[in-house]
Amino acid sequence: MAEPKYIFCTGGVVSSVGKGLTVAAIGRILKARGLKVAIQKLDPYLNVDPGTMSPYQHGEVFVTSDGAETDLDLGHYERFVDEEVSRLSNVTAGQVYSTVIEKERKGDYLGGTIQVVPHITSEIKRCIKLLARNTKADVVIVEVGGTVGDIEGLPFLEAIRQIRTELKRKDTLYVHVTFLPHIGATGELKTKPTQHSVRELRGIGIQPQVIIARTDYPVNDEIINKIALFCDVDEDAVIPLETADDIYAVPLMIEETGLGNYILNRLKLDTKKPELTEWHSIVEQSRSASDKLRIGIVGKYVELHDAYMSVKESIVHASIHQNQDVEIVWIHSGELEKGKGLDELKSLDGIVVPGGFGYRGIEGKIVAAKYARENKVPYLGLCLGMQVMCIEFARNVLNLDDANSAEFDEGTHHPVINLMLEQRAITDMGGTMRLGEYPCHLLPNSKAKKAYDTEVVHERHRHRFEFNNEYREQFEEKGMCFSGLSPDEILVEISELTDHPFMLGSQFHPEFLSRPNRPHSLFSAFIKASIENRSEQQTHTEQVTFENISSD
Ligand code: GLN
Repeated sequence: MAEPKYIFCTGGVVSSVGKGLTVAAIGRILKARGLKVAIQKLDPYLNVDPGTMSPYQHGEVFVTSDGAETDLDLGHYERFVDEEVSRLSNVTAGQVYSTVIEKERKGDYLGGTIQVVPHITSEIKRCIKLLARNTKADVVIVEVGGTVGDIEGLPFLEAIRQIRTELKRKDTLYVHVTFLPHIGATGELKTKPTQHSVRELRGIGIQPQVIIARTDYPVNDEIINKIALFCDVDEDAVIPLETADDIYAVPLMIEETGLGNYILNRLKLDTKKPELTEWHSIVEQSRSASDKLRIGIVGKYVELHDAYMSVKESIVHASIHQNQDVEIVWIHSGELEKGKGLDELKSLDGIVVPGGFGYRGIEGKIVAAKYARENKVPYLGLCLGMQVMCIEFARNVLNLDDANSAEFDEGTHHPVINLMLEQRAITDMGGTMRLGEYPCHLLPNSKAKKAYDTEVVHERHRHRFEFNNEYREQFEEKGMCFSGLSPDEILVEISELTDHPFMLGSQFHPEFLSRPNRPHSLFSAFIKASIENRSEQQTHTEQVTFENISSD
């Protein structure tokens, strides 16, 4: 097999400028030319994976179908490139060091001294090449997490530098994503931090061939020429990338700059012309959408939108396809607990309670579920959101007063949500949940079956707790329908309320499978119900107003 081409993407100046998104967008414009693209994120932190990290540190944990807990950038990769990624697509320093140390303990190094160079760097290169071999990709895009200058990033930069030498300098391209700060007083964009960051990269032996300059303001030719001259890159390889109003417009913006063709020339790739018609129509549809829909996300990290990245995007995908401009209303579950934010709740057309761990904010989520059930407001519960929906039902419909999940109250008399049997002997926290893709059988005539329009679905999971089957009958008698079950019918995967327009929770995370061109069936059904709810509310308000006027 021919060696694939490699694009290595580093970041400079500051973090959080959307490097992951930019990389995903490059992946999309290359795929649009018929190339097979694989993407990998190298994370220099020492955690083995982000599964045990706080959302405050890391945002969302994205779950792959083969059960890896990964960086949220992998979600961008899947949504933009629309190729399934696996655990090979996220490599952390923690994984690299663990492998090397394990080999050392086995005696594999035959008495040698183990060093960052060459042992750690060789392991990093092995992981990169393993992905290339496994995916048989034409182009492998490797994003190095963090920014140039971070001490922990050095072995990763050294590894990607070495690959260039090994491949005799051909077949590799280095892309550096930087940021141009804007000085308000003079109205200028500054290139100096970009120059410094490139100098730092060169100091390690990497000369970037492409510079993507992220900015919040328009960039003129003078700035482009300056960056090209001082950083020693071609003028047409300095790509200004202004902050987009819609993230799905980024591949089109990048294509317009000519970067796609520049990459092909540099890597000596011969391809068909880019086919981005579908992508254009997604962006046009999103821009022309009207009728604002108000969807609430009730969570405990709502000040941190990254923690619910895939949920937010899934709502957007389903809304775009139904011509709705959606406003996501972030509702703090902790505030609901204190009786605040109820008016906000009342202003919503639909409510989503996403996944989560730990007791903080749970009672607020239960308030939201109760409100949705009693007022027939569409509700979509994702993993914890399904568990919350069941706890609320147990407390307020079945009158099991202290019903709870054993996760939050081990002593509850009614653990309607309980620790899964196979989880009971587990003590290690990392990578030990029920993770990844499992099949789920749908019940005929249910809302779930109607939404999916198929009999068996495969969805991604990340949980330790499950619905307690001792309560199944009691729930069913009062109108809860368990419409999705594991093939052996033991595990409840979906529960829904029969006497409600749309109140449904899934033990899995449908948000990981939604794509801008293929919204997820459950999100589509939920958005459809929310639109219907809004129209009913409007009719109701109009009637009330009319009655008020006529009684005057
Ligand atoms: N904390 C719950 C469990 O472990 C829900 C997990 C989640 O929402 N991902 O089962």
